[in-house]
Amino acid sequence: MIGLALAKSLYALPTWTRVVALVADHWRLQRVLGCEGDPPSKWAAYRFATKLRENGDKVERCIDSVVEGLKAKLPTYGTDLAIDASDMPAYAAGHRFTPTGKVRERYSDPDATWGHRSAVSVRKGGGFYGFKLHLAACTKTGLPVAWHVEAANEAESLFSAPLIDVARGRGLLVDTVAMDRGYDIGRVHEECAERDCLPVVPLKQTPGVKRGDHLPPSCEHGTWKFAGSDRKRGASKWRCPTGECRPASTWIKASRLHPLIPYGTDRWRKLYRGRSAVEREFGRLKNEWGLKPLRVRGLERVRLHADLTVLTKLACALSRARSTRSLAPSRSKEPQVRGRAAGASSGAGSGARSPSGICHSGG
Ligand SMILES: [Zn+2]
Repeated sequence: MIGLALAKSLYALPTWTRVVALVADHWRLQRVLGCEGDPPSKWAAYRFATKLRENGDKVERCIDSVVEGLKAKLPTYGTDLAIDASDMPAYAAGHRFTPTGKVRERYSDPDATWGHRSAVSVRKGGGFYGFKLHLAACTKTGLPVAWHVEAANEAESLFSAPLIDVARGRGLLVDTVAMDRGYDIGRVHEECAERDCLPVVPLKQTPGVKRGDHLPPSCEHGTWKFAGSDRKRGASKWRCPTGECRPASTWIKASRLHPLIPYGTDRWRKLYRGRSAVEREFGRLKNEWGLKPLRVRGLERVRLHADLTVLTKLACALSRARSTRSLAPSRSKEPQVRGRAAGASSGAGSGARSPSGICHSGG
């Protein structure tokens, strides 16, 4: 049944009914899942989904252990994060009025709400009815680290700190976090400081920024130069360019206007460029791993759908990381052992992905 859940995301199928139909059609897939000649019924699949919802802590522990395995194989995983939120339109219309003009009393998905999303490609931005996926992705490996599904009207900035906490709880370093302008709030910077994590967020044009409060100090010798940050002290050091002023340097306490990684430095720019990792990950999860379209209603079901989708993606990444690492040293010595090890470790990933004769549109 776990394999069935993985196959659902691997083949980007929106419903259990279609997963069961696919498995029933292909004996190789049945062999991989260990149910050759006796594929599960759709009722069994839906019962299993109910059990997964009731035992959310077990799913959570499963995710934790996959993340732990990835951390062991990919040392940079979880060091620099990018956080953002993306729309997940509900499996419901959500219009406030019925076709006859009356105010709607019953919604097919009462947990979903109206929220705002930005424009993507030729699709206009605007309101949508549904949920939002708040995601923290690793900028080095491009893999998800922590995520949370909430109704669409919840503000994004509320979820940066909880996501950092989840990532830390999974044993990841979380040194820096890149976020877009929507997270440029003093509170977000404070929450990052409390967690000893460096925020990389572009400035909103607030009155203080228009006044130039965020600019480095200056004197008659020119603009002062950044001379390093002290994380323990929570302040950055700035120096007179010629060193003729007395004192020649000063400490500025970290805040939204003066973060420990100052605006305009090469390090800030490099880290902010990494933010695109989270946008790419949204695209991959939605278009290749079946996060979209939602075919379940209710927050709990949508959360399980997101959990299983991301878990499958991470499990495949782990399987790949383990097989490539174990392949390299044994290649010259024992080719037979290598073959067996590769077959065993990629059973859930590439093995399930390429049973012959299966056509799927998910890529
Ligand atoms: Zn000076």
